[in-house]
Amino acid sequence: MIRSITRQKPEEEIDQLLEGLGRVFIVGCGTCVTLTNTGGTPEVADMGEELAEKGKLSTGKTVLPVACDHLTGEALKEFGQQISQADVLLIMTCAFGVQTIARQLKKMVVPALDTLFIGKETSVGEFNEICTQCGACIIGETGGICPVTSCHKGLVNGPCGGTNDGKCEIDANKDCVWTLIYNRLKELDCLDTMRKYQKPRNHHGGEPTPGKWKLN
Ligand code: SF4
Ligand code: SF4
Repeated sequence: MIRSITRQKPEEEIDQLLEGLGRVFIVGCGTCVTLTNTGGTPEVADMGEELAEKGKLSTGKTVLPVACDHLTGEALKEFGQQISQADVLLIMTCAFGVQTIARQLKKMVVPALDTLFIGKETSVGEFNEICTQCGACIIGETGGICPVTSCHKGLVNGPCGGTNDGKCEIDANKDCVWTLIYNRLKELDCLDTMRKYQKPRNHHGGEPTPGKWKLN
């Protein structure tokens, strides 16, 4: 199953973000963060207890069915009073959920999680990083294998000098992704595609204004 992979921010960072904010409403989500055990019902309850031990007052908490849905603002109306009593919303969802809520409510928001990548669960609690949504997909030229996520250095123009017997110099237990790409393209008789030079990457996906997109 593919999902947005998150992990809880370090406690000190959350403490710092909540400094001076005594009353907190906690929001979790019933989809990805529930499945990764980072923002479902038990984690929201634990967070409430941890904050109480630190002298914060929880004005309420909820786990939204889908925090990134455009109807989230409507779903939170039910908690209008508890939210208005809070200084801040502590949001235990991926960054998409946090931004969705921030756009729909006139309230300070603090994310409790870091959003890492889109991943596929390989066994319980373990994920393979599939895509970081870099905005400039090149896997059409790499045999469908993503070097941005799979190479430790994120190299897009072939291997570094450290590749050794097909293994990665950073993690010798891992195949060098550029060896995998080479073998795959060779198998497909498409090695020529490796010759294409990938220009320096604009991590804003080629758009001139960060965060602004125009499709067609
Ligand atoms: S190159 Fe890799 S990280 Fe970028 S969009 Fe394609 S699959 Fe995702
Ligand atoms: S050995 Fe291969 S996978 Fe590892 S950092 Fe170098 S190019 Fe990337």
